[in-house]
Amino acid sequence: MTGTEISSIKTLLSAPKRIVIVPHKNPDGDAMGSSLGLYHYLKHYNHEVVVMSPNDYPDFLKWLPGDDTVLNFESNTDICEEHLANAEIIFTLDFNALHRVGLLGQDISKSAAIKIMIDHHQQPDDYAKYMYSDVSMSSTCEMVYNFIAMLGDLNLITKDIATCLYTGIMTDTGSFRYASTTSQTHYIIGKLIEHGASNAQIHNNIYDTNSYEKLQLLGCALSNLKVIPEYRTAYITLSQDELNKFNFKKGDTEGFVNYGLSLNNIIFAAIFIEHKQENIIKISLRSKGDFSVNEFSRHYFEGGGHTNAAGGKSDLSLDDTIEKFISILPNHKNELTS
Ligand code: 5GP
Ligand code: MN
Repeated sequence: MTGTEISSIKTLLSAPKRIVIVPHKNPDGDAMGSSLGLYHYLKHYNHEVVVMSPNDYPDFLKWLPGDDTVLNFESNTDICEEHLANAEIIFTLDFNALHRVGLLGQDISKSAAIKIMIDHHQQPDDYAKYMYSDVSMSSTCEMVYNFIAMLGDLNLITKDIATCLYTGIMTDTGSFRYASTTSQTHYIIGKLIEHGASNAQIHNNIYDTNSYEKLQLLGCALSNLKVIPEYRTAYITLSQDELNKFNFKKGDTEGFVNYGLSLNNIIFAAIFIEHKQENIIKISLRSKGDFSVNEFSRHYFEGGGHTNAAGGKSDLSLDDTIEKFISILPNHKNELTS
């Protein structure tokens, strides 16, 4: 963001406004943490602020400060559309294209509000007046911290803001272990702890609140894990029947894909999850090093994301999706084996 843009945003925010903040569909820790962190910051200036999630999100995020104020577009469409129609500013957080918020995207397009994007995904679309897009960032939460810094307001970071931002940085960096984690990320994390974020408690709330059934589902996923050593690839499948057997709830499969990547010599991991209701296979892809799962997902599975973490989908059956996936691997033999 340029100095001029920052000054314009500062002027824009100098009088109370009606503001809507939107994270991506199926929001994760970074999407909800950045949205609620920004929410608490803007509330300080007496703006009328609403965080609007395109749909529901996992229970392990429902303790975040301000969570009780979040509106769900899917279950409260009328109220949400009223807020969107009246909004003067819409912040879009942790996504790069309006199709990432489903039907809510049409209301954002229609709205006359000034749009501000804060995001770290690759190849951002050009729908926002102000774009703070930086693919080198670990997380959108790190960017919200920078955004507050650019506005000269680091002194306004409260325990609530710090807690929200810490959460998203932690979840998007796999607890500070992915390559996207920089010394600056650690510096900011240190500052957030100074401002009151309780690292042990946040970690506990996110990672140590598993249900017994979720762990049983993980057991099922791990027994379905397949390895293709010649392409240094591992993948997991979960059918709808398997999800039903373990009483699957939103968020239960978060992180499963990483088990494939933890295998010695594996640099490409995938999980394929059958969703009978939507008639799609949801796909998560992860890699180590230069192999871009963003490009892979864009090319073959209608998705995208980052170099080392991306999502996508398939309209084929679970078996046919796996067959397609395996048949594609030889196209990438060089990248996967070099
Ligand atoms: P996950 O596998 O956890 O759903 O997603 C991994 C990363 O890719 C996340 O940063 C997520 O926001 C992003 N992502 C997931 N699906 C899509 C998609 O369809 N398009 C784009 N551009 N990014 C996606
Ligand atoms: Mn993110």
